[in-house]
Amino acid sequence: MTGPRVGVLALQGGVREHVTVLTDLGADVRLVRRPEDLAAVGGLVLPGGESSVIDKLSRAFGLRDPLRAAIAEGMPVLGTCAGLILLADRLEDGIAGQQTLGGLDVTVRRNAFGSQTQSFETDLEVAAVGEAPVHATFIRAPIVSEVGPSVEAIARLPEGGIVGVRQGSLVGLSFHPELEGETRFHGLLLDAARRA
Ligand code: GLN
Repeated sequence: MTGPRVGVLALQGGVREHVTVLTDLGADVRLVRRPEDLAAVGGLVLPGGESSVIDKLSRAFGLRDPLRAAIAEGMPVLGTCAGLILLADRLEDGIAGQQTLGGLDVTVRRNAFGSQTQSFETDLEVAAVGEAPVHATFIRAPIVSEVGPSVEAIARLPEGGIVGVRQGSLVGLSFHPELEGETRFHGLLLDAARRA
């Protein structure tokens, strides 16, 4: 018996690593490029990449409205980095005309870390996935600058900045868990997809 059928939005960005993690966890993984692809999955990863490009392509491919509808209907979604930006209801420092899909009642600031720390790795404590620390890779990462009342901050930097949030079946992370063999966030997505 195969695991839940889930998709990875495959318009641009780091798609392959997510496919690998999900496949290793036993999921039936589909690449999502068209509305029909989205209709066939019960959970979705929005990968890292360039959020303004993914935004434009999602509109060009007719995926924006189906994605928004799927999120509104409760489809479990894991967004990493650019994927977190896409899930945010409010965006700071987007390019002119950049839109998000929304779903998470948060404000996210794009490229929030200055040039010296454009990319860095650190270990984070994230109780939502258990005791072992999460090895997190940040690449031109966004930060969550404000959270609404129904949003849980699940990951923070030592300084306190919020880098992981959960609201219902939506999880957004500033960092990339998929690059270092971390599988627990994808596990949460598959658990939610099984329940949905
Ligand atoms: N800075 C990118 C953006 O604005 C995100 C970087 C990433 O996904 N690694 O979309």
